[in-house]
Amino acid sequence: MKYFQDFLNSIPHKFTPEEEAVIKRAYEFAQKAHAGQKRKSGEDYFIHGREAAIILGKLFPDVPTLAATLLHDVPEDTEITLEEIEKQFGPEIARLIDGVTQLGHVRMKNGKDKFYMENLRKLFIATSQDIRVILIKLSDRMHNMRTLEFIPRDKQIRIAKETLEIYAPIAGRLGIGNWKDELEDLSFKVVFPKEYQKTKELLENEMASRQDSMKETQKNLVHILHAEGIKFQEITGRVKRLYSLHRKLQKYESDISKIHDFIALRIITKSTSDCYAALGSIHKHFQPVPGRIKDFIANPKPNGYQSIHTTVFGKAGKTFEIQIRTDLMHEEAERGVAAHWFYAEEGKPESSGRVQAKWFKELQSWQEEASSPEEFLESLKIDFFRDRIFVFTPKGDIKDLPQGSSAIDFAFAVHTDLGYHMMGAKINGKMRSIFDELQNEDVVEIIKIKKEAVISRDWLKAARTQNARNKIRHYLKEHDKGILERIKELKSFSLPRFFRKK
Ligand code: MN
Repeated sequence: MKYFQDFLNSIPHKFTPEEEAVIKRAYEFAQKAHAGQKRKSGEDYFIHGREAAIILGKLFPDVPTLAATLLHDVPEDTEITLEEIEKQFGPEIARLIDGVTQLGHVRMKNGKDKFYMENLRKLFIATSQDIRVILIKLSDRMHNMRTLEFIPRDKQIRIAKETLEIYAPIAGRLGIGNWKDELEDLSFKVVFPKEYQKTKELLENEMASRQDSMKETQKNLVHILHAEGIKFQEITGRVKRLYSLHRKLQKYESDISKIHDFIALRIITKSTSDCYAALGSIHKHFQPVPGRIKDFIANPKPNGYQSIHTTVFGKAGKTFEIQIRTDLMHEEAERGVAAHWFYAEEGKPESSGRVQAKWFKELQSWQEEASSPEEFLESLKIDFFRDRIFVFTPKGDIKDLPQGSSAIDFAFAVHTDLGYHMMGAKINGKMRSIFDELQNEDVVEIIKIKKEAVISRDWLKAARTQNARNKIRHYLKEHDKGILERIKELKSFSLPRFFRKK
């Protein structure tokens, strides 16, 4: 059991004896369940769950989540069922594992739509429901990415692409900078090996020419802040990550003179006012580059990131970015949504309810960026991911609809005109009634006619979305108006004429 002790020691958190007992039980259970299975690397299969749990534990040492991470591949890859796990470990842990298994089934279909990736990320989140499921899945993916070299090249590329397009943005959206950076760089190396090499060389060259100047600036900063009596905890240097450098170079057509943050110096303070005080004295002693001051404390980024950024001229005209933030902001920048769990104001863990609430807020801001204001308001109607189904167009685009939706909702969700001209629907390749309830992951093809469809009041009964209902009502109103007008016409012209004839 020396291994178990090593495992526990690699997680920087003090567990109670009861908590430790749960983790140990999960550890031994998973080890036994995977006994005899090997990974492609030749290691025991169990090592994967163990390593994933260490990755997770460093960020988020929550006991049920850790236990579920250790056990996450057991129901899929061994004889032991989820029911058995539930009997042994209770419903909470079982539910987390089930969520991870479900997520494993979310697959990329061959969509070319420009919102496809965005939709897929939403689908991914919706399927998991509990933020902890995503954290487990991300640590699972992190370990797989770290050990990618053992699998065939084509599979490596597929997994790395998926990581770059789905997993890394989700880590970023959750504000977990550490995970996003590592996932990106690991994938970058596999998906774009040439660009990776080029970017790496470029960065190394830049570093060589900046290092001395940076060290001196760092020393000067310490002196200046001390002399002015500004309290700070530490000043560290950070080198730009390769993938983010690559993206920036693409944006500026490889003009490296536009890149100001190859190296950044980070000042960590105790309080927000110290941040602004530090900024003031830095600008007194170093010439700032105009237009490069960004106050993300007053205006946090959508994922909650807070910091002040400024760029100054150092020695020999070399520029440096300086980032100033409090220790709490720093904690959040690295650990994102997970930081709240363990670092609430008095150092007490926040309730999972609070964390979940913040998580929903994050999702909503994501929604806000991605869709129209109407859709966003619609999404605010609580529970916006529970009770929803995801339906595919034949091209692989995803529409999310409330549970109980029909092909009518789907048609109006795709395009208003499609709704007004629909005459039938193929669901998973078979002709079905447009009134039938759709199921999650159905592929729906709307059959349309050239002229306007005849819409009856029955359509209202089968429509769940506000969007479809409004459009149907509009049609019915216009239609009724048409009939009324025709009756009026008949009355005012035909009837009198008829009488006149008489
Ligand atoms: Mn796994």
